[in-house]
Amino acid sequence: MATVRLTNVRPWGGAAADVVMADDRIVDVVPAGSAASDGETTIDGGGRLALPGLLNVHAHVDKSWWGRPWVPAGGAPGTAGRIAHERAERDALGIPSVESTTAVLGEFVRHGTTGVRTHVDVDLGVGLRGIEVVRAAAAALGDAVQVDVVAFPQDGVMRRPGVLDLLDQAAAAGATHVGGIDPASIDRDPVRQLDGLFDIAERHGVGIDIHLHDGGELGAFQLELIAERTLRAGMHGRVTVSHGFALGELSPARQAEVLDVLAEAGIGWATAAPVRSAPLPWREMRERGMPIGLGTDGIRDLWSPFGDGDLLRVALGFARLHALRTDPDLLDVVRLATSHAGGYLGRAAHDLSPGARADVVLLDAENVQDALVRCPPRALVVAGGRLVQRDGEVLV
Ligand SMILES: [Zn+2]
Repeated sequence: MATVRLTNVRPWGGAAADVVMADDRIVDVVPAGSAASDGETTIDGGGRLALPGLLNVHAHVDKSWWGRPWVPAGGAPGTAGRIAHERAERDALGIPSVESTTAVLGEFVRHGTTGVRTHVDVDLGVGLRGIEVVRAAAAALGDAVQVDVVAFPQDGVMRRPGVLDLLDQAAAAGATHVGGIDPASIDRDPVRQLDGLFDIAERHGVGIDIHLHDGGELGAFQLELIAERTLRAGMHGRVTVSHGFALGELSPARQAEVLDVLAEAGIGWATAAPVRSAPLPWREMRERGMPIGLGTDGIRDLWSPFGDGDLLRVALGFARLHALRTDPDLLDVVRLATSHAGGYLGRAAHDLSPGARADVVLLDAENVQDALVRCPPRALVVAGGRLVQRDGEVLV
């Protein structure tokens, strides 16, 4: 076993420690200056703040034009307009491409992200090619970043006959999740879309992660449909709602009613905390044991010119959207981006503790709160026990 000792770091801003890693796991965390064993390779942490690797639970790495000349935004506003714009323009841009996907994943690594759940377009135009592109990009980075794939029917499911079969094939070929999109407003047939997705998930033993932009009571109705099917399928803990803007828009009484059924079904949430969205009832969600994960969503693509791949900046956006200021709350938000997100990537544990995958990020920051509000550059990133970024340079 190759043993690496990351010396003199401050896990979560605490006392100086050495993190000892063997192969891809953390095997020990000991006080700094403890005697090293023979044959250990050491990396000097320089007294910096150490956090577990950031986990981006909602991305679209197949869509990005990162690393290319600027592409002006276009298309009509709204979900339907953006879908049409992307369908019309992506072929001319050569999207999806291994080069751009590798570039954006590399940017994630540079910012300390060591695990990604990415929605990958599956439709009648690209078929399953996007998934092959994402796999090739992950391999090009030496699998430094764990990349889990959601087979994502961006263009609809029931309204595009043949897409359900493609999702079925993707689930059979190793996608960890089957995706869905606005079963009511895109397909105009929520029951059939959801029944189709749950049928695939049950047969292949994969999870479900559904984009739900629909707001208000239309969104709430679909949340209830999702929860009912999750309970019926015995998929507690394996279904995620992405965005789910409706939840923040309901009256307190209706919100509590929907939260109870979502919690009973063990539904998790993924949010990019966009500006102008309604704040989530995040304390009520946490009190009910509902997981909340953070994601960049698409960055620099035909949907949006925004985003820089820094998940810590998304965490800062979450804190600001929810008007959080106290130290315990700021610490909790950083946990959402790191240690609390392990379950989204199938990890039993994700922290700076023995047994966890050896994913460590070092920052020049006084403490966790200081890191959140400033989002300083990541000085060093270790993923799976390997040094993958030093002084901003990606090494894989
Ligand atoms: Zn998305």
